[in-house]
Amino acid sequence: MELTPDNATGAETLGAVRQCVRCIYDTRIPRISFDRAGVCNYCRQHEDLDREYPTGADGRAVLDATVEEMKRAGKGKPYDVVIGVSGGCDSSYMLHLAKKEFGLRVLAAHFDNTYNSRIAVENIQRVLGALDIDLFTHVVDNAEFQRVYRSFFEASVPEIDTPVDLALAAVHYMAASKYGIKYIWEGHSFRTEGISPPGWFYMDAKYVQSIHRRYGDGKIKTLPMLWMHRWLKWMVINRIRKFRPLYYLDYNKEETKDFLSKTYGWEWYGGHHMENRTAYFVNNYYLPRKFGIDLRYSELSALIRSGQLDRREALERIAEEKPFDEGILAEIKRRVGFSDVEWDDIMSAPVSHYTQHPTYKRRFEQMRLFFFALYKAGYVTKSFYHKFCVLKDDVVESKDLFQTLGWGDDERSAGRSAA
Ligand SMILES: [Zn+2]
Repeated sequence: MELTPDNATGAETLGAVRQCVRCIYDTRIPRISFDRAGVCNYCRQHEDLDREYPTGADGRAVLDATVEEMKRAGKGKPYDVVIGVSGGCDSSYMLHLAKKEFGLRVLAAHFDNTYNSRIAVENIQRVLGALDIDLFTHVVDNAEFQRVYRSFFEASVPEIDTPVDLALAAVHYMAASKYGIKYIWEGHSFRTEGISPPGWFYMDAKYVQSIHRRYGDGKIKTLPMLWMHRWLKWMVINRIRKFRPLYYLDYNKEETKDFLSKTYGWEWYGGHHMENRTAYFVNNYYLPRKFGIDLRYSELSALIRSGQLDRREALERIAEEKPFDEGILAEIKRRVGFSDVEWDDIMSAPVSHYTQHPTYKRRFEQMRLFFFALYKAGYVTKSFYHKFCVLKDDVVESKDLFQTLGWGDDERSAGRSAA
């Protein structure tokens, strides 16, 4: 074999696909690049985040100072902080942390898209009951949600979860503004969950509206929307900030799950984001089979980078078939109203990308300096600022994005060429 600059640096190659020597990302990940040591830019980004968000004593100092500030801001109000709950590990642990470790007065907020699993609902009840925490819930009109959900399938875009993700964010703000609360805690951890590479997913309220206008019917009335003017009002007028406490902790998911089961009778539901049946369906069936997107790459790579998983074990796990319960597919088809033939058409339809639809993206780019100020003041996250305001859409790359991915999904390409 000829010695090329690639293998001279020790990078592994799988046919034409080159893989990072540290994590399991490879050249099928959008915007990936490798340095001389064969380490990918996403691993280096993780190192930057590690420095920016220290754990141990330094992390504890940041947490203590922020909690003091939250208590000051909460004076005269019924609560200090809003925490979104899903019944999952991260949000359940945050409730414990906020109330037991830091003595904060917590208001839990929940958006019910009517697809919660039984385990998730029981987990929420157990933890909130044991900690005596109040709950703010917003339930969406079921028929309306099915219509919005269906329009995203019809549009052939991968962002099936976007209406729910944005509604969650909006519900947290609604709960905070109702009681004058100045802080929202988010359960994201780049060390266990990772950050999905730019190009996989996009989200904003205008995107939801344009997909629904073109492919759906009826009006959006009960689905909370994060419209630009509402969002800016919540940040600039109501002064509601976001904080991610898990960034400052040596957060180990396996240990946390054990802790939650022992302390609260919390139950594991078998996979990240599997507390909700639509999320399970999208992650284990729709994204991998139609778009070649497997979120395990991002999660397992994050665990390797934070030293919680061996690279060899990650490769073994990714080689395993994703488990899937066919009953959920039948339920989604029935509830959203797809016949078997219609569903086959959805699965084989050519994929579409967010750049082909009206969004706020250009406005975010134009408002870059303003959002930089918001990021610095703790109102938006760094990853939002970077992905939505700094990175420009590369239209050529975007158009070919899913076509060039082809994560060994022969069924999908066969379906497309037949269509
Ligand atoms: Zn890497």
